[in-house]
Amino acid sequence: MSGIGTKCVQGGYTPNNGEPRQIPVIQSTTFKYDTSEDMGKLFDLEASGYFYTRLANPTSDYVAKKICEMEGGTAAMLTSSGMAASFLAVFNICSCGDHFISSSAIYGGTYNLFAVTLKRMGIEVTFVSPDASEEEIDAAFKPNTKLIFGETIANPALDVLDIEKFAKIAHKNGVPLILDNTFPTPVNCNPFKWGADIVTHATTKYMDGHGSAVGGAIVDSGNFDWTKYPEKYPGLCTPDESYHGIVYTERFGIGGAFITKCVAQLMRDLGVAPAPMNAFLLNLGLESLHVRMKRHCENGLAVAKFLQSHPKVSWVKYPGLEGSKDYELVKKYMPEGTCGVVSFGVKGGREAASKFMKSLKLVAIETHVADARSCCLHPATSTHRQLSDAELYECGVSPDLIRMSFGIEDSADLIADVSQALDNV
Ligand code: PLP
Repeated sequence: MSGIGTKCVQGGYTPNNGEPRQIPVIQSTTFKYDTSEDMGKLFDLEASGYFYTRLANPTSDYVAKKICEMEGGTAAMLTSSGMAASFLAVFNICSCGDHFISSSAIYGGTYNLFAVTLKRMGIEVTFVSPDASEEEIDAAFKPNTKLIFGETIANPALDVLDIEKFAKIAHKNGVPLILDNTFPTPVNCNPFKWGADIVTHATTKYMDGHGSAVGGAIVDSGNFDWTKYPEKYPGLCTPDESYHGIVYTERFGIGGAFITKCVAQLMRDLGVAPAPMNAFLLNLGLESLHVRMKRHCENGLAVAKFLQSHPKVSWVKYPGLEGSKDYELVKKYMPEGTCGVVSFGVKGGREAASKFMKSLKLVAIETHVADARSCCLHPATSTHRQLSDAELYECGVSPDLIRMSFGIEDSADLIADVSQALDNV
């Protein structure tokens, strides 16, 4: 299966003669076996199969396999949310006492997970600017550094990561690069092609695309050789006592070790598995992802261009806009398109932004992005409303910043809605 569109529609699941054409929803918590010995082999990871949906379920696995094919990986798993995917991807190789490096331009929830919650678990993070030089990133490494994390297009900053640069620095220092590829999706960007080792997703966003199911995914490229650094990654390269001394890299190979360990240990102990029905809904979204992404990008670009020439708009940020700060990176890493999210500033600060938001008719105010329906958020009067203007600038959110996520409606209608709302400012 070669094209991304074909993978979106038919990847992951090939029915045999007389089997369901659509991925079946196996809405069952558990699976029946004839003997305890049969089940014992599953518990020892000696046979493949299902025994409890908290660890794995066929519906979720079909959908994970599709995402794996779309990203070009060797193994993948679904999680109950994008946050769960980011947490598991890091926690699978970082323990108390370890350190990792992250781009500072990442989703606010992930930033908090890294800076606050992982810190409470004894895992330390150093944030670096996505525009940092090789020397600055090298300087952030410590003897206990286990990985670098970043977002291919950052939410909400919309910075595009120089994937090849970050991959080269990670590999030179003997650690993998983990990238959240939520915004461009594998339709627009293939992080593995440029050296990333593991990719995560909030499937809640474009992949689901209809605002129906929260979910996440982790995909392994199979390219990072953990066995070169057995002291650094003991969880993957030395016996797991909770599985009778199994060594994941030996039993499942370089391409299977990371995901197998993540399912066998972390899903078992933390239980952040998706509901089978949510995996089914996600698959419906995936079937049209390649068609929708094209439209999201066309609409994003059309409105960004309109905003750029509007007298009441002070600035516009859209990575796909010619002349944008990261335009050269866009041409290299995502030449077919970026995403449908645009941020801009309306002249007149908080008050003007608030008037603009109130006047929108088609575009809804929501804490969400990447939906078929256009939506928007004004952080200074919603998510960040407790902060003063000075504090807002400190965390990179200006009082006038409006984040808009353009859906797949007609661009003329979206421009008309934005235009009439600006008239009311
Ligand atoms: N990563 C990115 C880039 C996101 O935008 C989000 C949510 O907005 C997440 C991760 C977290 O995903 P979820 O809301 O599914 O937990």
